[in-house]
Amino acid sequence: MEDCLFCKIVAGEIPGDVVHATERTVAFRDVNPQAPTHVLVVPRAHHANAAELAAEDPQASAELLTTAAAVAAAEGYADYRLVFNTGAGVGQTVFHTHLHLLAGRPMTWPPG
Ligand code: AMP
Repeated sequence: MEDCLFCKIVAGEIPGDVVHATERTVAFRDVNPQAPTHVLVVPRAHHANAAELAAEDPQASAELLTTAAAVAAAEGYADYRLVFNTGAGVGQTVFHTHLHLLAGRPMTWPPG
């Protein structure tokens, strides 16, 4: 999709610190990390949010989770948090589905 930041990172048009890639997903480090490991896992194809991805491509949706688990394991973490922000009201700023993988520090609940 034109003017989508994460489509451009997937396409290599904008640099991303890519740590893992699969047939359907790309994982790259967040530019503003909120934990020692903060990686975004995105589908290669454009979908606006997690629910739309699950409805339109369930296999890619599942692959986001397996990719996140593989990245966490590769970075040495058995404990980690996965977050999908869905909608501007809860902080979604990029409208290309992305799964936040956060690890490497204690975390509180509920999130802010
Ligand atoms: P969200 O607020 O859930 O939509 O998450 C968007 C995330 O994208 C934020 O955590 C940003 O720090 C991150 N971000 C924005 N631009 C870039 C970029 N060029 N490369 C990597 N991460 C980015």
